This record gives sequence, C-alpha cells and structure tokens, in this order.
Amino acid sequence: MNLTTVTELIQPAKVAAIMDAVERSEQIVITTHLSPDGDALGSSLALYHYLKGKGKQVRMIVPNTFPYFLRWMKGASEVEIYEYNPSAAKKILYHADLIFALDYNIPKRTGDMAPALESSPAKKILIDHHLSPGDIFDITISLPEISSTSELIFRLLFQAGKYDELNLAEAECIYCGMMTDTGGFTFNSNDPEIFEIISLLLRKKIDKDAIYSHVYHNYSEARFRLLGFTLSQRLDIYPDLHAALIYLSKEDQAHFRFSKGDTEGFVNYPLSIKDIIFSTFIREDDGLIKISFRSQLSFPCNEFAAEFFNGGGHLNASGGEYYGTFEEALRIYADGLKAYEGKLKQAINQL
Ligand code: 5GP
Ligand code: MN
Repeated sequence: MNLTTVTELIQPAKVAAIMDAVERSEQIVITTHLSPDGDALGSSLALYHYLKGKGKQVRMIVPNTFPYFLRWMKGASEVEIYEYNPSAAKKILYHADLIFALDYNIPKRTGDMAPALESSPAKKILIDHHLSPGDIFDITISLPEISSTSELIFRLLFQAGKYDELNLAEAECIYCGMMTDTGGFTFNSNDPEIFEIISLLLRKKIDKDAIYSHVYHNYSEARFRLLGFTLSQRLDIYPDLHAALIYLSKEDQAHFRFSKGDTEGFVNYPLSIKDIIFSTFIREDDGLIKISFRSQLSFPCNEFAAEFFNGGGHLNASGGEYYGTFEEALRIYADGLKAYEGKLKQAINQL
C-alpha cells in the first residue's frame, strides 16, 4: 500500500523552466530575506546543496547574520553575509547568471542588498509563500497557501523527479524550515500533504526529534532569563480586546546581554493565554523598532502590520518596522489596537 501523494501545485511549465535555467547557468546565487529565519535558511541551504551536487558554482548571500540555533545546518558556515562585505557581495550578484530569491516577495525585504539585487543582469527566480510578489522576477513561484518556502523547495525537486537524488542534508534543511515556519507544526499546518512530505523526508533518514532539539533546546541561559523577565515585567494584557503586548527596550536587552536570535519566538507565548488571539512584540533595535505580530483565527495581523508599521506577512504571522522612538511605536500600537477593536471582537466570536 502506498498512500503518499504530493499534488503538482507548482505549474509543471515553471518547474521545467527553472530546471532549464539551472542547466544553462554556471554561477548561481541564492538570496533570502533580512534576519534569516529557519525557513529562509532551510529553503536556501537545501537548494544550495542540490545545486552544488549538480556541479554548479553556487554562493549563498544573506543580508545580515542569523541566530546561533540555526548554525547546525550543513552549509551554514559557507553562507556569506552581505553587510560584512557589501562590495564583494555586489560583485557576486552582478556576475551571477542566475539569482534565486527565496522566502521573500519583494527586494526591499533584503534591506541594503536590494539595489544590487535589482540591478544585477542575472536571470531571477522567485520561490516564496508571501502575498504580493514583486515584478522584477523572470520566473515566479508564489504560493501563499503553502506554509513554508522549504516545502516549496521540496515540491519543486519532487515535481522535477529528483526525490530519489535528495540527500540527508537537503532533507534536514527542508524539514527545519517546514518545522520553524509552523511553530513545530502548531499553526498553518493542517494540510495533510505536509505530513506526506514529512514522511518522505523521514525516508531520507532525517532525525526530526534531533532537529527539534537543535533549534528549540539550544538557547543560552541569558535568553532563558530574558524570556522570564519579558513575560513577568514587560507584558500588557488587554482582556477586552483579546490582545497582548510584550516590549523590550535596548536597555532591557543590554541588561541580559542580548545576542541575535535571543528573542526569536517570544511573540508566540502570549497566544497561550486563554482568549488572547493577537500578540505583538515591540523591540528597540539598532536604528529602528522591530515589531512582530502573531494572531489566531481570522484576525489579520498582516493588515495591522501594513497599516501601522509599514510591514506585512501572513494572516497569522507578520511583522513590520518603525523608524522613530520606542515610545512612539508603543503609542502607535495602542492607537491601532483601538482602531481594530471591531475586527478583534469579530474574530473571537468565531470561537
Ligand atoms: P517574524 O515575526 O518571525 O520576524 O516574522 C513573521 C513574518 O512576518 C515573516 O515570515 C514575514 O512574512 C513577515 N515580516 C516580518 N517582518 C516584516 C517586515 O518588516 N516587513 C514585511 N513586509 N513583512 C515582515
Ligand atoms: Mn517562510
């Protein structure tokens, strides 16, 4: 009995066009978004290994550094960081035959790297699951209904008939991205094919329990204590609005010797409070305020992100930025919450 099915969600003509573009290219660059997360790195590294296996000259360039709990992935040490050496990265982008843009919809999501990306004469391929893909790409695979770009990389290779060739490192990277973009399969993960794909990855001998531990049981003591502080001292609950806010100033973070990635996942915790369906995390960063949103049910946190913080993302997981003071960002959030009272109440009534 073989029940495993993976529907051909990517248009076969696009799969063929991508394979053809790869075939014709020598120098290939894989790029992903600012502050790369598990899906950004997982999808990119899986493709990186696959293309290297094909004998291509592949570089992976990310805009800025990524958290320590993603460094276990094979190839992570070969990833080049744009902001460490912009002029070298610009040259690589300019001389590429083919550039893959993974896990972001528009060049702006790569920060300072965007102009070099846009002006490169290379052929460009987008593979992503965010709404509203940009128009600079020669081939666009944009499937917002799919929960991770890593799953799209699996689907691309599977549809291209490469499943048999898929190796352990590729399978691990794909699984990591699928796992992290669904919070360990706790949201955006009711599609049965996700589990069909996991089954196919397990057949490549991934150790999914070990991957979970690498990512989620790998934090520093400082991060653990910062989490405790945040939840007890920097949490506001708005019970009538079914919303919660956590916030950290630069000073708070310095006190706990903040290192990149330490606050990853914090925004999810308030959703575990009964009847809280909208969680926001406002963090003072270098020169900007970074905001993360999570929601449940039909509450569109991406609309909130777009309207008040120049951001976007998915219905239940989104983010934005604010250029101004921390206090202003907190005030904008409070005003936004009032404006969204109706939508919050509407969403909770579906419970
Ligand atoms: P996180 O809160 O994990 O940083 O981001 C969650 C999701 O929100 C990301 O997968 C991405 O889709 C979106 N997102 C985060 N920050 C931004 C931003 O500054 N702009 C836009 N457009 N989307 C963002
Ligand atoms: Mn993603």
